[in-house]
Amino acid sequence: MNTNNPYAAPKSSVTTATHSECRRDGKHAFVPTGSDLPPRCIVCNDAAQTPIKERTLYWHSPWLYLLVLVNLLIYAVIALIFRSKTKVSPGYCATHLAARQRKINWFRIPAFLLMLGGIGIMVVDEPSSGIIVVVLGFLLVIPAIIVSNTFRAVRIDKSGAKFSGCKEPFLASLE
Ligand SMILES: [Zn+2]
Repeated sequence: MNTNNPYAAPKSSVTTATHSECRRDGKHAFVPTGSDLPPRCIVCNDAAQTPIKERTLYWHSPWLYLLVLVNLLIYAVIALIFRSKTKVSPGYCATHLAARQRKINWFRIPAFLLMLGGIGIMVVDEPSSGIIVVVLGFLLVIPAIIVSNTFRAVRIDKSGAKFSGCKEPFLASLE
């Protein structure tokens, strides 16, 4: 009998990843390679809403930011080559998932309306003032991105990844 069944369920998946080896590292959570965060809210430590969305996060040495002083394009290319990647599933309970979405929408909805309004102005009236309104809308996307990325990788190496954005109740549970 063929033991190499290509249709067999994968032996390792997010759900079977171990959580026990995660540990606290000051204000950060450390997740060893091959592990994932426990399925609890990273804010209040309650049971997380499932399925938890897996996120791909990137990190590169902070020294690379010095290249921004030389040339933004050179920095972008070098950062793309030397960045490290990790996959992790930060959980949120129903309350904190909704709070996070609300915070993002504070910026996303006005940004969308400004862009739409700007395009409207360009079409019916004044192209130059329309462009200014569209650009304002784009600028509002930046705080939306910042708010949605409070959970981020602060270091990734061969042993694992360190994340910021986890609150005290959750961090205390990792000790
Ligand atoms: Zn919570």
